[in-house]
Amino acid sequence: MLGKMMERPLIISDLISHAARYHGDGAIISRETSGEVTQTDWRQLDRGARRQASALLALGLNVGDRVATIAWNNRRHLQTWFAVSGSGLVCHTINPRLSPEQLALIINDAGDRVLMFDRTFLPLIVGIKAHVPTVEHFILLGERDEAAAEALSGLMFLDLMVDAVDDDYRWPALDERLPSSLCYTSGTTGLPKGVLYSHRSTMLHSFSISLPDAMNLSARDVVLPAVPMFHVNAWGVPYAAAMTGSTLVLPGPGLDGDSLIDLIDTYRVTLALGVPTIWQGLLAAARKRGSSLPSLARTIVGGAACPPAMIDAFRSEFGCDTIHAWGMTETSPLGSINQPKAKHDLLPEEEMTALRCSQGRPPFGVDLRIVDENGVEQAQDGVARGQLQVRGHWVVDSYFGHAQRAVTQDGWFDTGDIATLDADGFMTIRDRSKDLIKSGGEWISSVELENIAVSHPGVKMAAAIAARDEKWGERPVIIAVRAEGSQIGEDELIAHFRGKVTSWQVPDAVVFVDSIPINGAGKMLKTALRESHGDVLVLRKVLS
Ligand code: ADP
Repeated sequence: MLGKMMERPLIISDLISHAARYHGDGAIISRETSGEVTQTDWRQLDRGARRQASALLALGLNVGDRVATIAWNNRRHLQTWFAVSGSGLVCHTINPRLSPEQLALIINDAGDRVLMFDRTFLPLIVGIKAHVPTVEHFILLGERDEAAAEALSGLMFLDLMVDAVDDDYRWPALDERLPSSLCYTSGTTGLPKGVLYSHRSTMLHSFSISLPDAMNLSARDVVLPAVPMFHVNAWGVPYAAAMTGSTLVLPGPGLDGDSLIDLIDTYRVTLALGVPTIWQGLLAAARKRGSSLPSLARTIVGGAACPPAMIDAFRSEFGCDTIHAWGMTETSPLGSINQPKAKHDLLPEEEMTALRCSQGRPPFGVDLRIVDENGVEQAQDGVARGQLQVRGHWVVDSYFGHAQRAVTQDGWFDTGDIATLDADGFMTIRDRSKDLIKSGGEWISSVELENIAVSHPGVKMAAAIAARDEKWGERPVIIAVRAEGSQIGEDELIAHFRGKVTSWQVPDAVVFVDSIPINGAGKMLKTALRESHGDVLVLRKVLS
């Protein structure tokens, strides 16, 4: 016998229907690419999304087809999310900070049939158009724009498309296992891989992140996701906001401290989320302007390790709680979040500070373990280190377009992070085994930098490592061995990267050494290099 309860699919369109019906007048504030701030609500957003869905389907798209977006956090982008996923299409959010080559690679891999973008990205789109043959329709997220129409033949305009259809479209009942969105993660080898979320995984993730011991979201909150909608779906916050009826404040391209403070103070934002670099800018600007950020009760910091001083500064200067979280594209992203338990209230201040710096514990629905190189599980004692593995309802099983599963034989996904885990499940990231550098929340492939370095005839061998940096968390530094007889200097090697990678990926420094340590398998010992040269940027700054 089976249970005798209704069985309704867990689908994304139910989020927007719920928000429209029960939080219809709940505000969505949006900073447009023009800088202007507009306001809409969940009822209008649902209406716009249904119209947009109807206009997209009229182009001849079918369930499962990919619709790409290159856009900031704004109301048209949000409407597009619900229009695309709600109608059974797949919303492929793309990071505009990638190089044009990487963008084309990702669009081709995804086989996107439509590309929707903010006006700011028009030159970028014009530049890659000839290299993305699967894209049949280019749509500008805005009103008709003569200059844009001239720059890109056949360009369509979202506002015109939505105005031309009626309100009759109703969200279809879909299988909850169908894909809803697609997001690419940086591969170690430089080849990005797509993570294809399902309606079901997205819905379960939304329930989970809203819980009190996670983001504690409610209809009383005013939420500002400073994390971009192209970074793992803005950590799932727009979906959870529709689920809980929170007011959303979408900051558009303005992620500098001053622009964020304007929004936080004007709209009385209670919760803001983003990577540490963003909050550094915010703290500096708030101090300078003398704003005490009175409405801001909590910030959620993730994507890169949160510096302890940031937690202190938010608490002591602004009365704001900092909640540290960990996750990745492959985990939708929430894998762990730091909410102390009641018993921790009794901890001495120092221990409490240490606890708050950990990446937190897994919510229900996620399981964490640490293993050694033979896959043997390590003690959950806060001391033993191991490779962090994860499994759960919103964790990747296999990558888009890859038949092979991305998990261990017993069904766990290896994160590439090295961590400790304590008895309560508090996880602390200690190191990284994957070969990537994270600068201001964005990945840089060390393999790619190494290939460029050794392509210079004056370089015999090179390793790209993540060096600590006060502003960006990590910055790339090249450790190089000169070729016989070569006199190449630091400036010359750095100049060699210009034009080969986007400017923010150009290494900050080069350290020339006589040799680079190698392990038994012939691999460069990056841990040893990080230990000896990881502080080079900090030291140079002190000495300068
Ligand atoms: P996101 O877009 O959320 O940054 P990615 O998949 O690009 O997700 O990156 C995930 C990786 O970022 C993790 O495996 C880890 O190495 C790093 N990371 C994420 N959050 C943290 C954190 N709070 N502390 C340290 N590293 C983190």
